[in-house]
This record gives sequence, C-alpha cells and structure tokens, in this order.
Amino acid sequence: MTTAEYPTLSLHIDGRSVPAEHRDVQPVLNPATGEILGELPLADAADLDLALATAQRSWQEWRVSTPDQRAKVLRGAATLLRERCETIARIATMEQGKTLHESRFETMAAAGLFDFYAEECRRTYGRVLVRPTGTRSVVLKEPVGPVAAFAPWNFPIHNPVRKLSAPIAAGCSVILKPAEEAPASALMVMQALIDAGLPAGVAQVVFGVPDQISSHLLASPIIRKMSFTGSTAVGKHLMRLAADNAIRTTMELGGHGPVIVFDDADIERSVELLVTAKCRNAGQVCVSPTRFYLQEGVYDRFVSAFIQRLQAVKIDDGLRDGAEMGPMANPRRPAAVEALIADALSHGAQLRAGGERIDRPGFFFKPTVLTDVPADARIMNEEPFGPVAIMSPFSTFDDAVAKANSLPYGLASFAFTRSAKTALLIGDAIETGMLGINTTAMAAPDAPFGGVKESGHGSEDGPEGLAAYLVTKTIHQA
Ligand code: NAD
Repeated sequence: MTTAEYPTLSLHIDGRSVPAEHRDVQPVLNPATGEILGELPLADAADLDLALATAQRSWQEWRVSTPDQRAKVLRGAATLLRERCETIARIATMEQGKTLHESRFETMAAAGLFDFYAEECRRTYGRVLVRPTGTRSVVLKEPVGPVAAFAPWNFPIHNPVRKLSAPIAAGCSVILKPAEEAPASALMVMQALIDAGLPAGVAQVVFGVPDQISSHLLASPIIRKMSFTGSTAVGKHLMRLAADNAIRTTMELGGHGPVIVFDDADIERSVELLVTAKCRNAGQVCVSPTRFYLQEGVYDRFVSAFIQRLQAVKIDDGLRDGAEMGPMANPRRPAAVEALIADALSHGAQLRAGGERIDRPGFFFKPTVLTDVPADARIMNEEPFGPVAIMSPFSTFDDAVAKANSLPYGLASFAFTRSAKTALLIGDAIETGMLGINTTAMAAPDAPFGGVKESGHGSEDGPEGLAAYLVTKTIHQA
C-alpha cells in the first residue's frame, strides 16, 4: 500500500461525509517514515452545533429502537470489520505505526466488542419491587442521552469501537472525537456502522483542535454523558468542564503498571510474556507493564534474561514482514521518553539497554531498561507511555505491595508466582482496576476495563460498559 491509497479524510456529521472545503486542515503523518499521508479537515463551531442538534434529534429516534434493531446494526458492523480486516489493519498501521500483526488483532478484537454489545443490549433489565396488592413500583433503565466521546490514538480501531458500541447498544446518540493523529481507522469503523444500517446521525465523527471541540460540546446542555480515554491531566480538565453541566463521566486515564515477580515465578515464561507486553505498540498502552519489582532471589537473573530477549526484538516499519515493534506514534512520544530517561540518569539511574532513538526516518525508539531509579525521578511518577521498563528489587511481600501501591495510579497491575496462596493474597492487596496473575492479557469484550485512584472511574466493556450509558427511573403506581 502506498500513500496514494490512504483514504480521503472527512468529518461525518448529520449522516453526511463533510469534506475540508473552507475548513482548516491538519496533516496526518506516517510515524514509520515521517511522510504526510493526508490532510484532515477540522470541525468549526457551526459543524459542532449541527452535530449537537443532530445528536439531540437522532437520540429521540434511537432511544425507542428495539434491541433487535440495535443488535442487527452492531452484529453487522462486527461482520464488516472482519471482512475488511486487512484494509483497516494496513491503514491503521500506516497512520499509527504498530505492527500489522497488532492492527489485525486489534480489528478482530474490536469486532468481538461489537458482537458482545449486540447480545448485551437485550439485557438492559429493570426490576419490579414487592408492593401491596393493587400497587406497583418498577425500576427502569433508560438511555442516558447524547454522548460526547473522546478517543486517543494508541488503539485507533478499538478505542473508537469502545466509544461507539456501548452507547449505540444502550439507545444513545454519540458524537465521537477520535484522535487527529489516526483518523482514517476511526472513519472506517464509522463506515462499518453506516453500512450495517445505523440510522443517520446516531453516531457522528468530528475532528479538530481537541480543547475547542471538548469545550464546545461539554458546554452544551444537549450532552448528557462524556467518555474519555487519555492522560490523567487532560481527564481532570475535562471533568471540570463536565461538572458545569453535571454531565456524567467515564474516565479511562493514565497508568504506571507495577509488575511483581516473586522468587517462585516461572522466569522464562514471565520474561517472554513481559517483553512482548512491553514492546506491544512500542509501549504506548495504558496497561503496559512499567515498574518491575523483582524479588531479590531472581532479580539478576530476570534483568539479564529480559535484556537479552528485549534486544532480539525486531524493530521495523509495522508494514514489513517480521516486524515485532514499530515506531512510536508521533514526534511527541520519543521526545517525551528521551526527557524522562535523561531526568532518571541525572538522578543516578543506570541505563542497562536502549535509551535512545534509532537513527532512521520516523519516530523509532530503542526498547529501554533502567535500574537503580530513585523514587523521586520523574519516570517513577509519570507514565512513560513508551518502551521503557524500570527494574527494582524487593525483599518481602509487604515491601512489594507498598511499592506497587505507592503511586496515585491504579489501572493495570501484574504479578507472577507459582504459589496459589501468594496469588490469592496479592489479588486482595493491590490497589488496581485490573490485575493479571501469570498473564499480561487484560482486555476482553465481557470483562470490565478501567482503573481506580487517578487512573479514572467507571468501566468500559462488559455489562458495566453498557450500564455506563443507562440511567435509572423508578415509577411508583397506586
Ligand atoms: P495528551 O494528554 O495531550 O492527549 C491524550 C489524548 O487526549 C489525545 O488523544 C488527545 O487528542 C486528547 N486530548 C488532549 N486534550 C484534549 C482536550 N482538551 N479535549 C479532548 N481531548 C483532548 O497527550 P498525547 O501526547 O496525545 O499523549 C500523551 C499522554 O497521553 C501519554 O503520556 C499518556 O499518558 C496519555 N495517553 C493515554 C492513553 C490511554 O489509553 N489511557 C492513550 C493515549 C495517550
């Protein structure tokens, strides 16, 4: 596929594709080469007002749709994503950088989420309360209303599907602002919904200057719910905006994944799983393993095995056969990671592997291992969102738990042990939204995905993800 095959970009408002025309545009880059792939139109205030009016109108129609109608659209979109997997995956890799293998997997996982909500939308049950004869109280679940959703660039297919599938299943309308860095993937998701029969206006896609879009949409009384995935700092800003209109929120924010490897763990297997997880999407994953706490008895062995395996990872343009890790997604990322590593080294950290850009076009960065990083180095407190593993020893279970729980984050955590008792205890002790014990697999359509503390609130996926778009009404009848 060449740049010429990259699709023409548009907004999607009120059932129509909206081209650039008089609007400002922004280039979309291929992170493997730095070349411009296309020009993205940016929505202006009039576009957003039209999207809001459309969201209000289409919600009135979609809220009374039957579960069968919703299921048909969602199932149809799942089928189309699978049929179009190769095209969607190649475009996602071109604009985001991850390997083609990862993009294919992401497309299929996104299809699975559409399928899950096609089924789950039948299960928006209420309940009947026990009352004296001749009277009745019922509890109903209703769609919350028009949704504003903001998706980041790291999963350019799956993030938009997360933001669209549950509101559509619940009977809401939704205005999605996907990431400006990877817009074509989101538009292909939108196209699958349209081709599967989603009525015009139920879902709309806008791009623009992020803060202008969010300020405009969240200032409108039409929006009843906001869902955001991104950094904790931006999330807090959006929660303040949402508060002015008492808009409900689901916030999937940053993490700083602790990994605890106990002396009795299967070291070979844990190294293999953790290197793969660390290099996935060049570390730009909110559930990426980051702070490695290794029990003293296995510390040296784990560090050297990890570095050896890490240095064998094949880094290349994600479209090339055999690539195991692609570039970082945009020029901000290598710059940010470089600064964090420099700060750690100035605080006395040891650089054991990587630590620099790769000398080629694009935004490639070497997988990196740091040891002896003091707790006050920035990288021990800020999400690196890159291929960096920080390794420290620990002595006792309580020591490991205290270190893992020491940050204000609580998204994904990992523990490796062969002891059932240790696994049980660590499950209770870690402050986290998700914990992988002897696994790094976190996301599944039926499993709630989300964090605690400053990693956010509310869950996506699973029944919880649908419940997030429903409100409760109680009717008492005499
Ligand atoms: P950023 O914090 O500026 O942006 C993160 C995301 O939020 C982007 O998709 C961006 O378009 C969006 N955004 C930013 N300001 C916004 C606003 N005012 N209104 C609506 N959306 C807004 O930084 P970035 O350089 O894109 O990414 C860097 C950091 O973001 C990373 O270090 C990581 O912590 C976080 N991030 C997290 C996830 C995740 O899955 N949780 C995904 C991508 C980025």
